[in-house]
Amino acid sequence: RLVVEERMNKLADYTETVAVNNMELQDQSIGIITSGISYQYVKEALPTASVLKLGLTNPLPSGLIKEFAAKVDKLYVVEELEPYMENEVRRLGINVIGKELFPPYGELSVRMVYEKISGQPGITVAPAFDSPIRPPVMCPGCPHRGIFYTLKQLKLIVSGDIGCYTLGAMAPLEAMDTTICMGASISAGLGMIKAHPEMAENMVAVIGDSTFLHSGITGLMDVVYNGGNLTTLILDNSITAMTGHQENPATGKTLMGQTAPQVDFVALCKAIGVKRITEVDPFDLETVKNVIKTEIAVPEPSVIIARRPCALIIKNTEKPLQVQDCTGCKMCLKLGCPALSFDKENKTILVDQALCTGCGLCIDVCKFKALRKAGDDNVKNN
Ligand code: SF4
Ligand code: SF4
Repeated sequence: RLVVEERMNKLADYTETVAVNNMELQDQSIGIITSGISYQYVKEALPTASVLKLGLTNPLPSGLIKEFAAKVDKLYVVEELEPYMENEVRRLGINVIGKELFPPYGELSVRMVYEKISGQPGITVAPAFDSPIRPPVMCPGCPHRGIFYTLKQLKLIVSGDIGCYTLGAMAPLEAMDTTICMGASISAGLGMIKAHPEMAENMVAVIGDSTFLHSGITGLMDVVYNGGNLTTLILDNSITAMTGHQENPATGKTLMGQTAPQVDFVALCKAIGVKRITEVDPFDLETVKNVIKTEIAVPEPSVIIARRPCALIIKNTEKPLQVQDCTGCKMCLKLGCPALSFDKENKTILVDQALCTGCGLCIDVCKFKALRKAGDDNVKNN
């Protein structure tokens, strides 16, 4: 503790002079203390205001803040969520305006910063052209896509979690109903079925491999301990994908790339007390559907492990996809694969060969056998 305190004191001195804590003095009638993305909003909304941009915010540079406050007429703190910097500035005995204007939740924006500080309505600039809508979607070939496509088909309530697979909440999949915080999918699901037992046959919890290891195991223990009749899907894509492909205790490697003991999900779930554990290939849509239907109907805890590596860590060796005799039914578009688009003029599906990984999901979904891999007779090859 003494060492930590000593370091923090040294760090406090460092924050006063470090270049990332930077005073930009201009019009001194308004001074804004800000950090991170909020700085970009401030610069765009009020380009002539004086700004104290803090790149290092713990500990805060109290001397620099006092110096800045003394130079400006009216002082604001612009920060997202809780008033961390604002409270610290107030503790220094400095009058500041912050959460009286800005909400302690959600995201700020250029318009909000402009309107709240200037008191003037923001200007709406019409876009120069209609750009295509590009909502965030899972990557082409993502192993999570088929799971959410199936969950939507089965019209299940999905207690979700945090990872790439949270995109399962987005159109066209729209198959995630709650996402509370890291690891909450299983415990929230348990809470829901305890409050409403009739939900058990219509709901699943979905969690990624690394999130499960981070904070999902305790939830699963609670399910077993409390006799929860919940089916949990662990989506094991062999990596921590959303944050940039870090290794985790289930990948068999340390963050430094050294070989490490590898968590065995089946053995782990058994050790917790789960008796029903099934492993599935998420690209095998029929099996995925049948296993989910079976497990939600069984009145005891169950785990389905869907195992396929993230599409970005495997080398794509599949043959290019071909389209022939497409009826234009658009069923395959329900997968939300960015490699598929629709040619309105010719009423046919187009496959972007540069994006397509040949995962084969759309081949399975097309009832008209209009999609096939080059050289295949509409036979899935995975
Ligand atoms: S490729 Fe198949 S599923 Fe997709 S629009 Fe054409 S016929 Fe329908
Ligand atoms: S095979 Fe179909 S679903 Fe898979 S990446 Fe290619 S276009 Fe997308």
